[in-house]
Amino acid sequence: MRRLAVLGHPVAHSRSPAMHNAALDALGMAGEWRYEAIDVAPEGFEERVRAMPGEGFVGANVTVPHKEAALRLADTASPVADAIGAANTLGFEAGAVQADNTDAGGLIRALPGRVRGRRALVLGAGGAARAAIWALAAEHAVVDVVDVWNRTSSRAEEVALQLGGAPIEAPRLSSYGLVVNATSVGLHGENPFEELLPLAEGRLDSEQVVVDLVYGDKPTRLIEAAEAAGAHTVDGIEVLVQQGALSFEIWTGRKPPLDTMRSAARL
Ligand code: NAP
Repeated sequence: MRRLAVLGHPVAHSRSPAMHNAALDALGMAGEWRYEAIDVAPEGFEERVRAMPGEGFVGANVTVPHKEAALRLADTASPVADAIGAANTLGFEAGAVQADNTDAGGLIRALPGRVRGRRALVLGAGGAARAAIWALAAEHAVVDVVDVWNRTSSRAEEVALQLGGAPIEAPRLSSYGLVVNATSVGLHGENPFEELLPLAEGRLDSEQVVVDLVYGDKPTRLIEAAEAAGAHTVDGIEVLVQQGALSFEIWTGRKPPLDTMRSAARL
């Protein structure tokens, strides 16, 4: 059996096992491959990862709070993982640990090709924001400008300058074609229109693309409001599916069926 897993703490809520096992099943690979969830606390993380190649694991996804540690312990890392400073995907070959980051590519794949004015506003300065800023700034694939706002402005400055964005303290919402919520606001029902200043003081419009990396069992308030404004919306599950699909390709060399992954992730 070729084993795959997601490592996190906690991890029981993760949709990755359902999503990846559904894809393996659809491709007729389920007899040989299996994806599981492994809860591991930070103090046991490195030891757990080092044991995995000997236990039949081909690779793993890594989620909160282990993404930085995953990059640190890897023997080799992709330029993307290095630039972002975190890994969400590990591969094991000949006992060595290879680190990659598909959060960035997953976001780009989830976006529509055109963004009005080619200007993006990223809200947040944590791990998710780092991947989003790098993804948008590095390739100039969909935007030319990446402004970064964060509640703690010193963090926005630090992260933006490191990754190719520009920190901004009072952005005008209407001047952006793309707005990405990469904060954790909304995860526990908080109101983004109260907590996030640029959203509190602006209005969403129908020509914008609005991404909320936060996801749960029902649409977030930001996604609901963006839909009501007629905007193009991309929710956190779509980004999760796209990053998962890229990880799947790294491990198996095959393209997974996205619709199968989507329905499994949304159950
Ligand atoms: P993190 O490193 O803990 O960063 C949290 C960010 O949220 C910081 O910028 C923080 O601002 C901000 N924040 C928290 N509470 C706030 C509040 N009340 N008002 C204003 N700002 C607030 O978290 P993360 O790892 O980046 O994850 C962020 C979210 O993205 C999580 O919900 C996670 O589940 C989601 N995510 C989704 C995907 C996906 O594939 N869909 C992938 C990765 C992460 P300060 O700096 O001021 O504290």
